[in-house]
Amino acid sequence: AGTLYVVATPIGNLEDISARALRILRDVALIAAEDTRHSIRLLQHFGITTPLTACHDHNERDESARFLARLQAGDDVALISDAGTPLISDPGFNLVRHVRTAGITVVPVPGACALVAALSAAGLPCDRFVFEGFLPAKAVARQTRLEQLKEEVRTLIFYEAPHRLLDCLSDLEKLWGHERPALLARELTKTFETLKGAPLGELRAWVAADRNQQRGECVLLVSGWQAPEDEDALDARTLKVLDLLLSELP
Ligand code: SAM
Repeated sequence: AGTLYVVATPIGNLEDISARALRILRDVALIAAEDTRHSIRLLQHFGITTPLTACHDHNERDESARFLARLQAGDDVALISDAGTPLISDPGFNLVRHVRTAGITVVPVPGACALVAALSAAGLPCDRFVFEGFLPAKAVARQTRLEQLKEEVRTLIFYEAPHRLLDCLSDLEKLWGHERPALLARELTKTFETLKGAPLGELRAWVAADRNQQRGECVLLVSGWQAPEDEDALDARTLKVLDLLLSELP
């Protein structure tokens, strides 16, 4: 049987494609792409003429069977998305699961990923982090989600559409306080790349004052929640022990 390669492509700067990605895209029998019109430009740029076929979210389930048949017949297939790493807020999950379940080898070909790029240069704690993808588009649902995430202690990473960035920052400031450290990474690897680190209140005001900051693609990172220091309060561990002891009392 063939192999399914999950190939990362650039998130802006075409130099970010790896030599291995180019070789595999050249060598496979078929490339499954999120949007063929978009990917054709990438392939043309690198002089790659491998046949291209669509694999987007709505036809992914039906398409999986077709790709599986090709793989079982011995063809290698590469999966790519419009930008960055497939499956990361991008199509491909159903295909990869389907193909793996059928016992076909799936090989990752790593490369650009906006969340990792942003995190690597943010200077926010990155030993532990949570990727939240896109927040809900509607205000009430977004605020509910942010309430749920308020006391998350790990660094939080969000993808956000430019036209919702300011609303999102306003909600964050309102619900998580203006002092929480944050960073906006915009247009990564592109001409107008901007990384701006500031507390939420300041960051919101900075974006509000400059319409240019409300354009392009962006990743938003926010420091995790830190318990306010209260010397009189008992820490969680002590409380747990006390709870246990209390439960043992007659
Ligand atoms: N698969 C992609 C990846 O590996 O990062 C993500 C695809 S998702 C549909 C698109 C979102 O990723 C954008 O709305 C933005 O939040 C983020 N993104 C992609 N490219 C970016 C860039 N060059 N700079 C900042 N954010 C980017």
